[in-house]
Amino acid sequence: MGYVFAAPAQAVVPIDSTSDLFPVHRIYCVGRNYAEHAKEMGFSEREAPFFFAKPPDAVLPVPFGSTGELPYPGETTNLHHEIELVVAIGSGGSNIAAGDAAKHIYGYAVGLDMTRRDLQFAMRDKGRPWDVAKGFDHSAPISPIKPVSMTGEIVSAQIWLNVNGERRQASSTSKLIWSVNETIEHLSRFFELRPGDLIYTGTPEGVGAVKRGDELDGGIEHIGALKVKVV
Ligand code: MN
Repeated sequence: MGYVFAAPAQAVVPIDSTSDLFPVHRIYCVGRNYAEHAKEMGFSEREAPFFFAKPPDAVLPVPFGSTGELPYPGETTNLHHEIELVVAIGSGGSNIAAGDAAKHIYGYAVGLDMTRRDLQFAMRDKGRPWDVAKGFDHSAPISPIKPVSMTGEIVSAQIWLNVNGERRQASSTSKLIWSVNETIEHLSRFFELRPGDLIYTGTPEGVGAVKRGDELDGGIEHIGALKVKVV
């Protein structure tokens, strides 16, 4: 017995400063996790965190010092950038308490949760799933992962994004409505977390559209930079 065709390649993200690879199990994302971004999306009240997912092979890994190429997806005229702190899970579990969450973190990366905003709003307004807005190919550009042994626990780090050299997003991970540890606590109630899971923790305010030819240059203090060109 065998596969009827070649099994899909394992999606991976490089570990910084080594030849090691992080095998991606799932990509979870947190919605509206910075107050000022929730406001710009039209929401003002604190609510429990909510989650959506992208397929594991949506990752677009970009080495430090390189510029990745992000193909402009079809079926949108409003592709938005969302710069985000990404948490890489190294050991799994269910019902993880926030106080125990840190020991489940392998490391961190800089990520972009690219979004077809026009489709997201259309789906949202009709109560339909967000998949076509969030889960398209290459929708999850990501830097190499830095192990927590190199970065320390990231609680209060500057996060920013420039487009063509102009500052679009700037905040601090200290402004997360639900901290990394609280996010892990909530998420692990709904899903058993596994080694290889990535959590895109939400974006600060300043999201906006990009077009072909635009160069995105984002970063997070203690981790590094993520550069992507839309092609
Ligand atoms: Mn996002």
